[in-house]
Amino acid sequence: MKKILSLMMIIYFWVAVSATAFCQELVVYSARNEHLIRPLFEAYTKETGVKIDYITDKAAVLLQRLKAEGQATPADLLITVDAGNLWHAAQEGILQPVASDILVKNIPSHLRDPQNRWFGLSIRARTIVYNPRKVAPEELSTYEDLAGPAWKDRLVLRTSKKVYNQSLVAMLITEHGDAQTEKIIKGWVSNLAAPPFSSDTKVLEAIAAGQGDVGIVNTYYVGRLLAKKPDLPLAIFWPNQAANGVHVNISGAGITTHSKHHKAAKMLLEWLSSPQAQNLYADVNLEYPVNPQVSPHSMIASWGKFKQNPINLDNAGKYQAEAIQLMDRAGYR
Ligand code: FE
Repeated sequence: MKKILSLMMIIYFWVAVSATAFCQELVVYSARNEHLIRPLFEAYTKETGVKIDYITDKAAVLLQRLKAEGQATPADLLITVDAGNLWHAAQEGILQPVASDILVKNIPSHLRDPQNRWFGLSIRARTIVYNPRKVAPEELSTYEDLAGPAWKDRLVLRTSKKVYNQSLVAMLITEHGDAQTEKIIKGWVSNLAAPPFSSDTKVLEAIAAGQGDVGIVNTYYVGRLLAKKPDLPLAIFWPNQAANGVHVNISGAGITTHSKHHKAAKMLLEWLSSPQAQNLYADVNLEYPVNPQVSPHSMIASWGKFKQNPINLDNAGKYQAEAIQLMDRAGYR
């Protein structure tokens, strides 16, 4: 009888502990579009029973909202793209540190906050794209080289107003310092074949149309465009392979400072970095998994492997304001 009683006690406690650990509802604020996150959350709910409510909006809007809501926020997790945005959220005090061996194991250190407030969940490679009818890959080498005289009137860029380029230039500042980076950006500007475009896709279309020969874009835009128009003359080049490597950025997440469900939010974050979730997370947008154990989608795997720049992405945030000023001085609009 005693044995049965203690067994019942054990079962009771197990159920109680499970209930607090698993039977939760989480709220996510996401700057990633609904179609990218919904399948993921559905899979998580199916696996764990945890229901996830979410809203989607622009990163800046979500940041403002989290600040305004303060302690009253219903949000447990913030998902957004670009390390610059995640860095700002951390600076604003919106994200709290998370101690997790699983996250440390699944995510390379340059793709997460040194203070553990944000974590990369997918990698976005911002690389060189060229028109193979006009450029031989042997002519290409580095981002810096695109400032040289060989590329006069041949370079196409997206506007400097986009955070992707601000992060790229911030990382160049980290590597080369202000003066050297300004020289590079001035070189890019003097090589432009057309005024900067409003989107990566427009950069690609201009290169395919022969308006320029070479540009810098995130690879998933190449994947998307080639899926629709496979015959476009566009090819990917991995620059800086003999130097520091390709500029990568992330989409990522952090637990909000005022989350009332830290433990459940941490479990979701850990799950997002796990092999079973990584393909679901990265493949929908043709990005690279952040977890090195996971292979990318077959289409992007076909572009080959590359060395990525290992400098910590918190520099994209630290030097963002400097990057914006520098691009302005260099005449990069
Ligand atoms: Fe994008």
